[in-house]
Amino acid sequence: MTSSQPLLPGSTLGVLGGGQLGRMFVHQAQAMGYFTAVLDADPTSPAGLVSHHHIQTDYEDPQGLAELARVADAVTTEFENVPAAALAALAQQRPVSPAASAVSVAQDRAREKAHFVGCGVPCAPYAVIETAEQLAAVSPDLLPGILKTARMGYDGKGQVRVKTAAELAAAWDAVGRVPCVLEKMLPLHLECSVIVARGHDGAMVHLPVQRNLHRDGILAVTEVYEQNLPPALAAQAVAAAKSVAEGLQYVGVLCVEFFVLQDGSLVVNEIAPRPHNSGHYSQNACDVSQFELQVRTLARLPLTQPRQHSAAVMLNLLGDLWFAHGGDTAQTPPWAAVLALPGTHLHLYGKRDAKRGRKMGHLNVTGATPEAARATALKAAELLGIAAF
Ligand code: ATP
Ligand code: MG
Repeated sequence: MTSSQPLLPGSTLGVLGGGQLGRMFVHQAQAMGYFTAVLDADPTSPAGLVSHHHIQTDYEDPQGLAELARVADAVTTEFENVPAAALAALAQQRPVSPAASAVSVAQDRAREKAHFVGCGVPCAPYAVIETAEQLAAVSPDLLPGILKTARMGYDGKGQVRVKTAAELAAAWDAVGRVPCVLEKMLPLHLECSVIVARGHDGAMVHLPVQRNLHRDGILAVTEVYEQNLPPALAAQAVAAAKSVAEGLQYVGVLCVEFFVLQDGSLVVNEIAPRPHNSGHYSQNACDVSQFELQVRTLARLPLTQPRQHSAAVMLNLLGDLWFAHGGDTAQTPPWAAVLALPGTHLHLYGKRDAKRGRKMGHLNVTGATPEAARATALKAAELLGIAAF
């Protein structure tokens, strides 16, 4: 269902998925005067805990979806693997953004890469592997490479690095011979990402380009300030992100992740059809955050180009910080000492159990200059036991 009338504060905005991204969407929507509804089976989900309505069913439950359509005036998603059929079913009754058609492209690495090629945005050389014949036909040029399951991967899960054809065959067996893509291993200089928001009327705005450091396949640090990246490269990333969004006729917030190779060229990695961990700095460093962009696109409110007012560094707070010295002894991270540093903004997701590698929260550090933000972030990292960057 589509409509061009804005949904004004007082309406109810729904979200499929109750994770931290949904929680921050809910917080922002509520700050702007909306009621919220979350659909997530987990009674203690981070977003469900703070929402006006929490429908506790799984994404495919027809009654849960009907209830969401009843209480919410429009629906978005915070979880890219929500079944496209659920979005399509909701769209019969309520405006849904992003659309099932766009989310389903992001859910499948093979379709995602075909979309990049179609948009003329370069991605890593790759081959689709769905059959033994395709496996046998893989060009040796793609090795060493990374075998990635086409569906359901995140935080480096579902990925195997392979050097030889024999390793590739063993890796495909190990993942259960599900559809995969094999990507050539590229010599990375750095990684970056861009958040774009596209309205129902096709208007597009973007956040500044984020420079990202991953550790063990998980985002660890995002830094955003001028001189972070060569300006021409940043402009190229923004233009590429916009053409990826445009090509999908996307409505909502989209994150496009890139690699910058050692020769300086830009290659798109993947897209996330929702706000992204690398965009969290915008909560404290920009006059419009990625979650406000999500509210605005869903409610069909005007989009204005966000302005970054402070240099920013974001530190991810993984569950590891809740254990002393890499051991099993539980500890509380030294929040008071961290918050004594000027420009630190703590965001925790309300998860009860800390587990290694689990995203528990993030710390945004803002400063008047890049040097100030970095210096404070390094002090905070030291207090928290996060390795320097
Ligand atoms: P997430 O959803 O958390 O972003 P993911 O599981 O979808 O992660 P990718 O983004 O595909 O995984 O890859 C995770 C990381 O692995 C990348 O950020 C990059 O550091 C490295 N990587 C992935 N593909 C390549 C490649 N072709 N060449 C070199 N490094 C790569
Ligand atoms: Mg990624």
